[in-house]
Amino acid sequence: MSDVIAQIAGLLLQARRSLLIGHMDPDGDVIGAVLGLREALRRLGKEAVPALPDRPPSKYAFLPGFAELTTAPAGSFDLFVSLDSSDTARLEPIYSTVIAPAGRPVINIDHHVTNVMFGTLNWVDPKAASTSEMIISLVDALDVPMEREIALPLLTGIVMDTRGFRTSNTTSDTLRAASRLMDAGASLGEVMERALNSRPYAMLCLWGKMLSTVRLEGRIAWAVLTPAMQAECGNPEEGDGGFINLLVSLQEADVGLLFYDKGDHAVEVGFRAKPGIDISGVAFALGGGGHPQAAGCTVEGSLEEVRARVLDMVRRAIDGQRALYR
Ligand code: 5GP
Ligand code: MN
Repeated sequence: MSDVIAQIAGLLLQARRSLLIGHMDPDGDVIGAVLGLREALRRLGKEAVPALPDRPPSKYAFLPGFAELTTAPAGSFDLFVSLDSSDTARLEPIYSTVIAPAGRPVINIDHHVTNVMFGTLNWVDPKAASTSEMIISLVDALDVPMEREIALPLLTGIVMDTRGFRTSNTTSDTLRAASRLMDAGASLGEVMERALNSRPYAMLCLWGKMLSTVRLEGRIAWAVLTPAMQAECGNPEEGDGGFINLLVSLQEADVGLLFYDKGDHAVEVGFRAKPGIDISGVAFALGGGGHPQAAGCTVEGSLEEVRARVLDMVRRAIDGQRALYR
């Protein structure tokens, strides 16, 4: 593992101008990993452009370098670094328009178990609770001292992907990593308040609408979200705002599913599972990906078709699987 990190550090040090890119529908982990690595490279005088396919939620504006994040990277690049993305579809449209035509090396840094190893160089660690946690090792390999401007985005990534150190993939290594970032000047209290414990009033309106759609079918709790519901609530940022985590917290449920009916005969499906249950395979089989307890995909079809198909697949997948603590 340390071999590939040293190779990645070497490529970054050789590059003249690199593009740091993360996945669509950006979350705290991908934003933190992109901005943390960008800040470390800046300390070395290296030009690295931070990019995301979609605009990041405005609550992350407190992170150093947030204003530099672009959805339309311009100019030429001799190196590409993909962060927190398990496949190239999650990097579109930037992958097809900027990365593939350039024909330059792509470094793939990620922690999804479903990663398809699309990079020229792949550093994929499914045991890491976040990609941001992995970037700490890369900052060390680059020989850049850990400082607040690097530490704050990385701590944000760790906190958001572990939902405040609550997910079952949070290890003692995760806590040690967070301690080190706090020692470097990142405030855990600030990250908790600004990133984790923060939502607009409009999101509560949306939760109200999603609550009225919740159904419990056997061990599966599911709910529906539509663009019309979002519009009625003033289009809050951040999709479901973490509502899906409420579904899987139900004592009766082992799996939570959120169906986002986009209206164009395509439904985005969010998956959550209790510790001990693995739904990443279902999301992967449907063209998506994720982690054992958190995954996603987009499925063609009407809401009713997709719901029936996914519920059936999940039922089969969890048959014989048992939650650890219920
Ligand atoms: P969320 O429900 O928070 O959007 O996503 C949960 C996890 O599944 C995240 O790690 C996210 O990267 C992954 N994920 C969500 N949607 C997709 C998708 O369409 N394709 C892939 N490959 N991963 C996804
Ligand atoms: Mn992540």
